[in-house]
Amino acid sequence: LHVLSVPTRDSHHQLTGRLWVVSDRTRERESDRLKDEFIGIVSHELRTPLTSILGYTEILLNRQDLDSESQREFLLTVSNEADRLHKMVKDLLDVSRLEAGVVKLNRWAVGLWQVIEELTLQLHTQLVQHKLLIDMRTPLPPVFADRDKVKQIIVNLLSNAIKYSPEGTEIQLIVRQAEASDLPAGHPAGQWMLITVQDQGIGIEPEDQARLFERFHRVDNSNTRQKSGVGLGLYITRLLVELHGGRIWVQSTVGVGSSFSFTLPIWTVQRVEGALEE
Ligand code: ADP
Repeated sequence: LHVLSVPTRDSHHQLTGRLWVVSDRTRERESDRLKDEFIGIVSHELRTPLTSILGYTEILLNRQDLDSESQREFLLTVSNEADRLHKMVKDLLDVSRLEAGVVKLNRWAVGLWQVIEELTLQLHTQLVQHKLLIDMRTPLPPVFADRDKVKQIIVNLLSNAIKYSPEGTEIQLIVRQAEASDLPAGHPAGQWMLITVQDQGIGIEPEDQARLFERFHRVDNSNTRQKSGVGLGLYITRLLVELHGGRIWVQSTVGVGSSFSFTLPIWTVQRVEGALEE
């Protein structure tokens, strides 16, 4: 409890009494704590790639005797670190816009087949070390969704699958109409598409599974510490899925692999009216 006492005075500035203001600041303190945590993590995570960019460019500028192979190698590091920085800044901006509630969905009937075709082309270079299997029995009904956001959700899940599973293993992308038994308890009723990204990677401990979709949650082990990231990817992914009314969840076994599933509402004729109003 926070107690504040303020002297009260009349129009001649004479003391007339005291006003006591008692307020519960638990929530305020919680938000202060989150803000501190945010700044701490962000400044640390942003500084690491920046330090490396500054260091390498300084060497490149000051050492005239470097052979072209080393020059290229250093430039590649600078480029990778700048990429990492770019991704982090994008995640941070996404989070602040999503939390502020200013992200609006541009929803229409979206065919998942085409979206997936586009994003696999986009991920082509990242996917060369893995086998991607797409299990999608056409024809499938379209979903009622924002095309770019759907792409972002699936790209995030596929990028994680690539990041956290060994080269040469298989990643499956499965798309089908959800049956009631597919949905977790408490899932909203209705007709849903179920999209699953399954990997044969390092897996996730049960105690971490529950917290994965929270802000800044990263699993702390030697495997994940080597990988870059601030732990915002799955948080953003969850917010985007929930904006569509869907849910996201994970099933995983350490050393065997993980399976991330999420739902999107199926487009129905009745939705046309709603979509036009938005
Ligand atoms: P990050 O940017 O740290 O990868 P995410 O929010 O995308 O952040 O993921 C949070 C954490 O969840 C990661 O640090 C990682 O430990 C774990 N994780 C996410 N996807 C997978 C996966 N497919 N397999 C194993 N662990 C995963």
